[in-house]
Parts: sequence; C-alpha cells; structure tokens
Amino acid sequence: MDLFEHQARELFAEGGIPVPDAETADTARQAREAAERLGGRVVVKAQVKTGGRGKAGGVKLAADPAAAEVTARRILGMDIKGHTVRTVMLAQPVDIEAEFYVSYVLDRAAGTFLAIASAEGGMDIEEVAATRPEAVARIPIAPAEGVTEAKAAEIAAAASLPAATVPVLRALWQVLVREDALLVEVNPLVRTVSGDILALDGKVTVDDNARYRQARWGTDETARHDDPLEAAAAAKGLNYVKLDGTVGVIGNGAGLVMSTLDVVAGCGARPANFLDIGGGASAQVMADGLNVILSDPEVRSVLVNVFGGITACDAVADGIVQALDSVTLTKPLVVRLDGNNAARGRAVLDERAHPLVQQVTTMDGAARRAAELAAAV
Ligand code: GDP
Ligand code: MN
Repeated sequence: MDLFEHQARELFAEGGIPVPDAETADTARQAREAAERLGGRVVVKAQVKTGGRGKAGGVKLAADPAAAEVTARRILGMDIKGHTVRTVMLAQPVDIEAEFYVSYVLDRAAGTFLAIASAEGGMDIEEVAATRPEAVARIPIAPAEGVTEAKAAEIAAAASLPAATVPVLRALWQVLVREDALLVEVNPLVRTVSGDILALDGKVTVDDNARYRQARWGTDETARHDDPLEAAAAAKGLNYVKLDGTVGVIGNGAGLVMSTLDVVAGCGARPANFLDIGGGASAQVMADGLNVILSDPEVRSVLVNVFGGITACDAVADGIVQALDSVTLTKPLVVRLDGNNAARGRAVLDERAHPLVQQVTTMDGAARRAAELAAAV
C-alpha cells in the first residue's frame, strides 16, 4: 500500500527527519484557515498516490491565505494521472538551495535493500538515471545491518550529498524498518539557503503482508483502492478489477477469467471488469460479485464462465440461484457451466428459469451471446 505524502511526512517527522510545518485540508475553506495558521505564505500540494504532481500543476505556491483558498479550490477535484485530488496539503514554503534524491527500496532480485541517492533531486529519478546514470548512486544494504553511520556516510559520499544528510539517511532507514516499508523515498531532500536539511516530499510503500501490524493507515483492504467499486469489492474479499467495457465478467480462477476477457474481446465487445470468484463460489460470493458488477453503470450484460473443478458446477448454480433472491438482476446474465457436475448445475438454473438468465454451453458461444446482448441495449 502506498501512503499519501502527508502520511509519509508524519512518519518522517516521528522518525526525527526534519520536515516543513504542514496541515491537510479537504476543502478550499479549510485550506485558507490552515494557511492562516501556517503563517500565510504556503505551498499547496495535491495529495494523490502518484508522482509528477509538480509538472501536472498539483504543487503551487500561494502568497497568502486568500490565494491558498483559490489555489486549493483549483487543485481539489483535479485529475492527476487518473487520480482525483480529494485532499491538499498546505506546507510552509522553504527557500531551496539544492535538491537531492534519496530512497531505500527492496531489491527482490538481489535479496537485499538498495539505497538509491543522487545530488540531482527534484526531478524524475528515472529520467536522471536514464540520461546521466553516473549521477545516481546505488548501494546495497544488508537488511540485518541496516544503515549504520558508516553506511550512511558511504551513501552520502557516493552520491555527493552533503555530510549533513547523514543523520537523515540513518533516520530514513529506521522509518523503513519500523513501518515495514518496501520503499521509502524523499524527493526532494533539500538544503535550504540557511543550510538546513529538510524532506520536502516523501513516498512510503508499506508491505501489504505487514498490514496486520501496521493498522494505523487502516487494515481495511479498501485503503488500497482508488476506484470505489474496486474498494467495495476488496472489502468483500473479491478479486475485482474495473475495466472500461460493457460486458461484466465473472469466472473461477485467474487463468479462466483472463481467457474469458480475451474471448469477449474476440467477439468485438469490451469487458467491463475482471472478477475472479476463485474456488469458493458460494451464494454470498456470487451475490457480492453480481452486486458489484451490476452497480457499474457501464455494464450491459454479464457473463458467468465457470469450469467446475474442486468447486462443482452445481454448487456454483446453487450460488447463482440464491444470489438471485437477494440481488435484483437488472441486466441479462449469460451462464456457461462446464466441467465437474456441469449437467446438474445447468438443471438447477433451468429449474429456476429466471427470465434474464440464459445458458450457453460453450465459452465462445456464451461470450458471443453476452457481446450481442451488450450491443443490443
Ligand atoms: P512531485 O512533483 O509530485 O514530486 O511533488 P514535490 O513535492 O516533489 O514538488 C515538486 C517540486 O516543487 C519540488 O521538487 C520543488 O522544486 C518544488 N517545491 C515543493 N515544495 C516547495 C517549497 O516549499 N518551496 C519551494 N521553493 N519549492 C518547493
Ligand atoms: Mn517529489
């Protein structure tokens, strides 16, 4: 899970890393009030879980609280790379003399952490690495040893960072350890004209496997998802991804769902989502899945494609029938059952004889039917 900048800032502050004074605001009015408390002149920063906010117009200086209100109004609601801005952070501006880049990231291939540091911070580090690779230092960190005084000095020297960054380099490592982070990044880490070292922007990625002990940002799965439908599905434990087409797709097993998406596309339609009900196709899972898909206004038909294995088709059919009691079906449902107990499953659905449910025995045929129904609306 990625954290917002203001959350990363909080962790940095707690870890003893100097950061500018700041507050968050969800409305322009709150932004004005926050700016008043912060001394008037502020930087207004969009809080979205993506980089390049500066370039996108999501980081702006405001001269006084009235300007902060106007700027916040402009930034709130802005779309930055598909992320809607719902919160801004107001920060005391600093006079920058130099901008650096520092991060610690898990290097899975090497089985260690990696310090990445550069005296050319502020911009996109991938860009610096591509054009001037010699300007980016990469130093492996043995996880058990961490960033000692000597290691911090080595990183600073390798990246030509001032010696004053050494305590920050050490503190940043402690943040990574304490927060179970896979990534901590400061870009830019700045030296102000008065010589202070300050973390102006931060990114922290918490290891999802550690969420049970990092409850602070919510153990709730929904925190990981920006799309409200994806969040609702995640809350129900469903493996759901929203796509931009009109045919809702439910299947059991990621492989089958992915090939179903392909077959739907092959029929000239576009899948509206990816929903894998996995092994447990209980009535509850079916009802939850159908509810999520049917609340997507783009969906015009739904295709359920199940290959019975350990989960037999009649169990899936029972699940669908029970789900139909609690879900008001508003779109046609095409069901294809094959594999273990397929005949029994089909019989269950035939008996229910819901006017909006139809069965097709082949995957191609079912996808074609769902595509036709979606096109017919
Ligand atoms: P990003 O574009 O999403 O990485 O957002 P940043 O928080 O890194 O801001 C982008 C750039 O805005 C930074 O590299 C700085 O150059 C500038 N910036 C951010 N905060 C301040 C500030 O307090 N004072 C000044 N002078 N510039 C700032
Ligand atoms: Mn940045």
